[in-house]
Amino acid sequence: MVDNQNFCEKCGQYLNEGAAFCPACGARVPGRSPEQIEAEREQVRSVMASRLKWAAMMMLVYSIPFLVLGIYISVSLDSIVSELINNPSYESYMELIGLSETELHTLLQQCGLMFIVSSVCGILSSVLCFKRRLYWVAVILCILSFIIGSTGFFALFMGLGAFWLLLSSKLAFDEYSDKLDEELAKIS
Ligand SMILES: [Zn+2]
Repeated sequence: MVDNQNFCEKCGQYLNEGAAFCPACGARVPGRSPEQIEAEREQVRSVMASRLKWAAMMMLVYSIPFLVLGIYISVSLDSIVSELINNPSYESYMELIGLSETELHTLLQQCGLMFIVSSVCGILSSVLCFKRRLYWVAVILCILSFIIGSTGFFALFMGLGAFWLLLSSKLAFDEYSDKLDEELAKIS
């Protein structure tokens, strides 16, 4: 079957696939309209938006529980430490860990603080993802959230997943958008 679009409308010259202009007479080859190209860009953009939403939800899944845990540890630090030190049922664990009361206090304090910082970074990054704003800030906050929270492997796992979603969707979108720009440039 011969497709009419493979020949120039004006002079009948055979056209290579994807050619924007006839090599013989220079007539423009009717192709997709700028509106169609923009519609495709909008489609790609909406795919990216849904991937960003997934990334945001992956970060919220660990950030919210970590925030609650971090606040709980920080607020009831003294009672947790005294419970661990004085409750006989923890005695064997405490001997195993071999930390003094002050050391345990410092360790838990740091843990609580790390959980809070990690969660706040994760939550801020999620908000930016949902709003689709300040993309690179969202990426940096995402990295911070899983590095600081990496004492919990769940945070590391989900955070890395969110990071991959964020980065890959952005890179794929940019590449696709560039191709559409090229197509638009050919038309005009
Ligand atoms: Zn022609």
